[in-house]
Amino acid sequence: MTAPDTTIFERMSGLAREYGAINLGQGFPELPEPPELIAAAQAALAERSNQYPPMRGIPELRSAVANYYARTQGLNLSADNVVVTSGGTEALAASLFAMVAPGDEIILIQPLYDAYLPLVQWAGGVAKVISLTPPHWTLPLDDLATAIGPKTRGIVLNTPNNPVGTMLTRKTLEAVGALAEAHELWVLCDEVWEAMVFDDTPHISPLAIPALAARAIKIGSAGKIFSMTGWKVGWAVAAPHLAARIAARHQFLTFTTPPALQWAAAEGLGLANSWFDAERARYAALKARLVRGLEAAGFKVLPCSGTWFVTIDLAASGLPADDAMLAERLVREAGVASIPVSAFYAQAPETGYLRLCFTKDETVLDEAVARLAKFRAQLD
Ligand code: GLN
Repeated sequence: MTAPDTTIFERMSGLAREYGAINLGQGFPELPEPPELIAAAQAALAERSNQYPPMRGIPELRSAVANYYARTQGLNLSADNVVVTSGGTEALAASLFAMVAPGDEIILIQPLYDAYLPLVQWAGGVAKVISLTPPHWTLPLDDLATAIGPKTRGIVLNTPNNPVGTMLTRKTLEAVGALAEAHELWVLCDEVWEAMVFDDTPHISPLAIPALAARAIKIGSAGKIFSMTGWKVGWAVAAPHLAARIAARHQFLTFTTPPALQWAAAEGLGLANSWFDAERARYAALKARLVRGLEAAGFKVLPCSGTWFVTIDLAASGLPADDAMLAERLVREAGVASIPVSAFYAQAPETGYLRLCFTKDETVLDEAVARLAKFRAQLD
């Protein structure tokens, strides 16, 4: 599989614009944006330097990231563990370019976020792909163990998972840790959805697993934490010797990240826990509304813990199971853009699931449900 010219997100957003559809495809909020963050960025633009900040990120943000993870996830970190990047995607790229040498085998787990495979390939790596098992999307540890060979060097994880919203448990991560230790592997974990968990499932980072603490790289994103997807402020967090390697790649990718946005993110991470709780509650209500609406209209929604997305099981919802074809039809004929889960597969795609983003106004979500229900009624 080679990388598509245009990502599925860009393609579906383009079609949504062309057909004037409600866009529940690409994951971004269309909601009031946090005024605290905007004010902090405005003040920083006006009052602070707009020249190159330190290459690894301003010390205040690096410390704020370490403190935020100490507070929310009990991780023992300092600024030396943190490299600030221009978004989570750049953190993924810098990390993979730091860790993958030509010919290395890297284990990817599908459904997989679309950037992982091309980045591994551009670094000269060879992807070995295993699959989560629906409908609970559990990680088959036997398949993982079998996929590890003499050339395997790393594993890419994602929790909470985009697109399906499920999370890796401590037990699973401990099993991954035992394998990583036995085979001397690194683990890259995309955790950009860590702040968007809507049930009691604890978010566990591989950095919290003793066997992985010195082998894991954690990717985070201010764009996700603060609902500012266009800001492109993210970070990689790892043991200092790994952080240094990642910084060496970051300096030739983007070099630095806009300082005003770093100041704003640093201030944001220091907001009280009540602020983060209120954000989560705001999103939880929208998720519940979309799920309730879909279920009341007879759609089957799969359970999930985190992210800005829910997935529907198409066959169980009385819809054609070819998700790619259905997504195209829905945007054109029903006026609702979505993302087919099969787009997150490098091989042998699991078809039959559609991802919908709920970070929209209530009236928009209600109208989308009405349009989906009408489309389905017309199929009969
Ligand atoms: N992370 C976003 C999503 O899953 C997409 C980001 C992008 O379009 N590159 O929808």
